[in-house]
Amino acid sequence: MIHAETLRAEVDSRFDDYLETLFGLLRQPSISAQGIGVDECAELVTQTLRDAGIDARILTTDGSPVAYGEVGPDDAEFTLLVYGHYDVQPPEPLEEWDSEPFEPTIRNERIYARGVGDNKGQFLGSILAYKLLSELGAAPPIKLKFLIEGEEENGSKNLRAFVNTNRDLLSADAFFAADGPMHPSGRPVVFFGVRGMLAAEVKVRGANRDLHSGNWGGPIPNGAWKLVELLSTMRTPDGRAAIEGFYDGVTPPTEFELKLLEEIPFDEAGTKAHLGITEFDGPADMSYYEKIMFQPTFTIAGINSGYTGAGKKSVIPSEAVVRLESRLVPGQQPDQVLEAIEQHVRMYIPDAEITKLAGQPPSKTSPELPVSRAAVSAMEEAYGVAPVVMPLLGATAPNYVFTDDLGLPAIWTTYANYDEDNHAPNENMTLRAFRDGIVASAVLFQRMAEVDVT
Ligand SMILES: [Zn+2]
Repeated sequence: MIHAETLRAEVDSRFDDYLETLFGLLRQPSISAQGIGVDECAELVTQTLRDAGIDARILTTDGSPVAYGEVGPDDAEFTLLVYGHYDVQPPEPLEEWDSEPFEPTIRNERIYARGVGDNKGQFLGSILAYKLLSELGAAPPIKLKFLIEGEEENGSKNLRAFVNTNRDLLSADAFFAADGPMHPSGRPVVFFGVRGMLAAEVKVRGANRDLHSGNWGGPIPNGAWKLVELLSTMRTPDGRAAIEGFYDGVTPPTEFELKLLEEIPFDEAGTKAHLGITEFDGPADMSYYEKIMFQPTFTIAGINSGYTGAGKKSVIPSEAVVRLESRLVPGQQPDQVLEAIEQHVRMYIPDAEITKLAGQPPSKTSPELPVSRAAVSAMEEAYGVAPVVMPLLGATAPNYVFTDDLGLPAIWTTYANYDEDNHAPNENMTLRAFRDGIVASAVLFQRMAEVDVT
């Protein structure tokens, strides 16, 4: 086992080469949403994998190609599937950038370029970590499989189909990815899952057309009131959904996870001041992070009826529309929650129109597994400080493809500085964050070789 301190010195002595490799990737635009440079970038990533001694090829999907690489002994007792994405967000608005988005520039010990933190500088850390270990004669005795996709920033539309048609190729013992920013304290973050999501639209009607509120006012039902009355039956004052079946299957946090929640730094007063609120919403008997990770939400994301424009309009609105959104927690499925909402709505308004807009299941790995513990301790060694461990993120990502479809424990960490400004102008990654990511992956790969999977 080569320790972090030695690895850091070895990375430093090769750092100019590593920057050159990174800059090559950054100079290649790869904007999936606009279809710019994606094929060329997949080629470049494949070449980068090969230059690191990894057997690599392009695999096609119905969208952007995947750069796939594999290395390590065929009889390895442990296989790690390393995921990343080479596509980037559109750079607009261009005038807000202090330097060209696809011409990497170093200022203030930071590399500025679109995609440096999200995600080129992070997945490259894992490729360079393998290269470094093999140069030091310490290639880990595990098999590494690299899956670097090209449409994460555009919804990973073909990821599920790709993974399921390549199940044998992608078979592994665990999944690993580095994406996202570190904690503001500078500690890395390790997270073990994401919430799911259901978005649906409910449309209700009074009369079959808008009507004059004087000539018709009184006997004619009003779509807006019907919707407001419906919504008032759907939520309790403490912020829980008052919908039968909504919480079916919800898995509460384990003792271990509750303890992890307590250890996540949280500035209650600062958060409230920052957001201009005096109270948090949701059940009073749950902590902030328990609500974000283990409690499904029931949100009005948008609501529309009648007239609120200039002047006044005397009208009885016919139609009223609400966009509902739920972030789902482990144990829930989008269609099960949709059915519960549908049944509730039909009980009050049988002819309401209900349309599913989007759905994605939640996904979670136990933080108590040997691979999970190994990852946390690898980050601690690499950074010299304990990572912030999050059982789940509040947001949604297609992690279920790996945990549910492939059946893998999934471990995520973050190598970018907290102020990486990804998706925004002047995206950046500090030189130190890039270097430390390489070290972290090198420690992690060695630790994974010690995990007992039998
Ligand atoms: Zn992104």
